[in-house]
Amino acid sequence: MERTPLPYTDTREDVDGKLLDAAGYIQGPRGRTPIRLNSSDEIESFRKDPEGFFADRHGATVEQYRDWIDTDGRPRCAGITAKGRQCRKLVPGARFWPFEAWLRAHRRNFCAVHRGPLDRADR
Ligand SMILES: [Zn+2]
Repeated sequence: MERTPLPYTDTREDVDGKLLDAAGYIQGPRGRTPIRLNSSDEIESFRKDPEGFFADRHGATVEQYRDWIDTDGRPRCAGITAKGRQCRKLVPGARFWPFEAWLRAHRRNFCAVHRGPLDRADR
């Protein structure tokens, strides 16, 4: 079966050309990720700027969307390094999380290095 290159839209119309159902498909950590499109305007917006549309729908930025892919859907650590920078490490265990879950956990949990003392403080 031939695979359609991402991103693309898939629409269903009735005999009068009325829109019945539409979805956009965009790259995700695990490949094709669907997003529901509710109107012709949304189809248009998605086609113009798939990444922007997808990010907007989730209340996120395009940078966060790209980071979600770069991290294979693993949230990054909330810790701060000794140099005062945001830790770039990934939270252990999690992988291929859907964007919603990734956004909720991103910068809220800790990597193996930063987890220790904070974990104890939580208990
Ligand atoms: Zn860390």
